[in-house]
Amino acid sequence: MTTTTLTDIIDLTPRLRLLRFTVGQAYLWRDGAELTLVDAGPAGAGQPIADAVRDWGHAPEDVRRIVLTHFHEDHAGGAGEFARLGGAEVYAHRLDAPFVRGEATEPEPVLEDWERPFFAQAQAQLPPRPAHPVLPSSVKELADGDVLDFGGGARVVAAPGHTDGSIGLELPQHGVLFTGDAVAASPVDGQVMLGVFNLHREQAVASFRRLAALDSEVACFGHGDPVTDGAAAVLRAAAVLRAAAAACEPA
Ligand SMILES: [Zn+2]
Ligand SMILES: [Zn+2]
Repeated sequence: MTTTTLTDIIDLTPRLRLLRFTVGQAYLWRDGAELTLVDAGPAGAGQPIADAVRDWGHAPEDVRRIVLTHFHEDHAGGAGEFARLGGAEVYAHRLDAPFVRGEATEPEPVLEDWERPFFAQAQAQLPPRPAHPVLPSSVKELADGDVLDFGGGARVVAAPGHTDGSIGLELPQHGVLFTGDAVAASPVDGQVMLGVFNLHREQAVASFRRLAALDSEVACFGHGDPVTDGAAAVLRAAAVLRAAAAACEPA
């Protein structure tokens, strides 16, 4: 049986901790005694996340909320388990919330040819989905422009395309941006790139540009190393490269 473990824990700032799983990443944000979890890893991640919270000098009960960037298993699978351990409230965009609640059948991504082997590999690395997953008892629904009460006011930025209800989270007071899978960093060379395995690729490209336009210093992705300095410029350069590459593609 595959068990879910953390493969790495990295403190990015005194307030921000990266939790890395075999597939995907989650983040802990600290406001004094109160914590927020952004994404929650796959099924089985509840206990490893609780261990990482304790290791940071907190109790699972200190985590007041779990904000999910989208419904995919590698981000939302552990949300119900961790919420039960400490009583955190779970948030997701209203268009992804039904999948997080297990109320609707999840749509499959529309894969580019080059993505197929990577998708198969990622699926193989994920722990098998439990027959009876621990779902959150309730999911609070978010919309574009909502402001959550952490990080000095965390603004929800709709970033559809990867999934319909994908969101970014912007903490303007701290220059921190969580992108979910709307943006990624390549596991090969760390290059910032459009997230893969999208439902609507063109929409995802537009969302990438929307997130790149924000004034972020630190950008935290669902996959790959965060950018911890001058993130906005790095994202904008990646957006320009994308546009240039698209212009060169044969019609
Ligand atoms: Zn992901
Ligand atoms: Zn995803």
